[in-house]
Amino acid sequence: MENIDKKHNTHNWQNGKYVLECLMEGNKRFVASKPLYPNQSQEYRSILNYGQKPIATILGCSDSRVPPEIIFDHGIGDLFIIRVAGHVLDKSIHASIEYAVQHLETSLVMILAHSFCGAVQAAISNAVDETSHVYDLVSKIRPVLSKAKKMPGDFVQNAIKLNAEKIRDEIKLEQYAQKNIQLHKLEVVATYYDLETGKVEILN
Ligand SMILES: [Zn+2]
Repeated sequence: MENIDKKHNTHNWQNGKYVLECLMEGNKRFVASKPLYPNQSQEYRSILNYGQKPIATILGCSDSRVPPEIIFDHGIGDLFIIRVAGHVLDKSIHASIEYAVQHLETSLVMILAHSFCGAVQAAISNAVDETSHVYDLVSKIRPVLSKAKKMPGDFVQNAIKLNAEKIRDEIKLEQYAQKNIQLHKLEVVATYYDLETGKVEILN
């Protein structure tokens, strides 16, 4: 019930940095195998009949191993989530984020990348059929590959992180984001989830 009380009694949810802290706290609980499973009761579901007030918007990969509510230990109605392979952008994705920022007033937009991302690996492989829809999707990831190759460390991991940072920067330039960032009403961050440790890291 802690989250409900905070939501109804304070304005903290309008502070994107605070929201990010709450999600990172939830991730710590998940990593430590001490989840609280908040906001999932029958009573809470009935409150949500009257509308949604999610605290964050997350653009994540469709990968079944990266479910945001679970890895951040949050519940129903907490997170407005858009998932697509490689979390690539298109007009429908922008529309969903725009709706969440402007109408649901979420103060945080997070791009959630992850290790061993198949979409990025497909972009690297060059083995995708040019007539497929997958080809269009991986073409959106390819621009980061030349820079990733020149960086020290693991090429695939660098490409995954660069892809998330590029998407973050593109979102920041959108009209719906720019205005709210200037008014200090919105934070846009890129993060990286490690499948092995379960930890989420905030990218620069
Ligand atoms: Zn992925």
